[in-house]
Amino acid sequence: MFLEGKRALVTGSTSGIGLAIARALKAEGADIVLNGFGDEAEIAKLREELGADYSGANLLDASEIEAMMNEIGAVDVLVNNAGMQHVSPVEDFPVDKWEAIIGLNLTAAFHTTRLAVPAMKEKGWGRIINTASAHSLTASPFKSAYNASKHGIAGFTKTIALELATSGVTANCISPGYVWTPLIEGQIPDTMAARGLSREEVINDVLLAKQPTKKFVQPEEVGALAVFLCREEAGNVTGANWSIDGGWTAE
Ligand code: NAD
Repeated sequence: MFLEGKRALVTGSTSGIGLAIARALKAEGADIVLNGFGDEAEIAKLREELGADYSGANLLDASEIEAMMNEIGAVDVLVNNAGMQHVSPVEDFPVDKWEAIIGLNLTAAFHTTRLAVPAMKEKGWGRIINTASAHSLTASPFKSAYNASKHGIAGFTKTIALELATSGVTANCISPGYVWTPLIEGQIPDTMAARGLSREEVINDVLLAKQPTKKFVQPEEVGALAVFLCREEAGNVTGANWSIDGGWTAE
């Protein structure tokens, strides 16, 4: 229970990868703050399961992020995980979707980070973990905003790793390939339309075609990697972008 006494904020942790990371950090004793949207009763159940605090802040709004960070106080582990996707050819890409994707996947992490760093520096210890994506290293068509946001978060992470290098605070990206979560489920109809494919063709010929293992990554595997990055033994791991993508970006 090496994270006992440490407070961890995981954004976008009411679902999918963020929830798995929150569960994994909790299993090592961290005091969890959940964030994200969802059904009130479901969130209440998660809070009870994890003994967690919760903020429903909309991370597209900088003032809500500031209020959340003020309310929860210092965090030792910051996991910037909330993210969204939209699939469309660039000439049809809705402008509001572009802005929301850049806002949530990239700008929100800037705000939480700038607000969390002073206390981490003061304590001389901190872990910043950004859920990027295989799309921070490579691109797929029809995901212009997502790919731009994920390449952006990778560059942001390297920068803060350098700025914090002597302070005991590390900053790294985790870059999953396809993980079966509501985010993936939600992009299947648009991908079917954009590419003229059936659901099965999208799953096998578009999604799993990218992953040499031919398997979806499991959310728990991402959680385990986040736990490793919090360990003392990972103190010299900073500015890295950790692929967990079934070999996708090895090709
Ligand atoms: P998900 O849709 O299951 O979860 C997204 C979370 O973000 C939810 O908790 C949701 O409530 C929250 N959220 C959405 N909009 C928000 C907002 N405005 N303010 C606050 N919270 C908000 O998605 P997921 O697949 O678990 O994705 C989590 C992260 O992992 C994202 O950054 C995503 O880009 C990344 N990722 C996912 C995959 C994958 O295959 N699923 C692969 C690579 C990277």
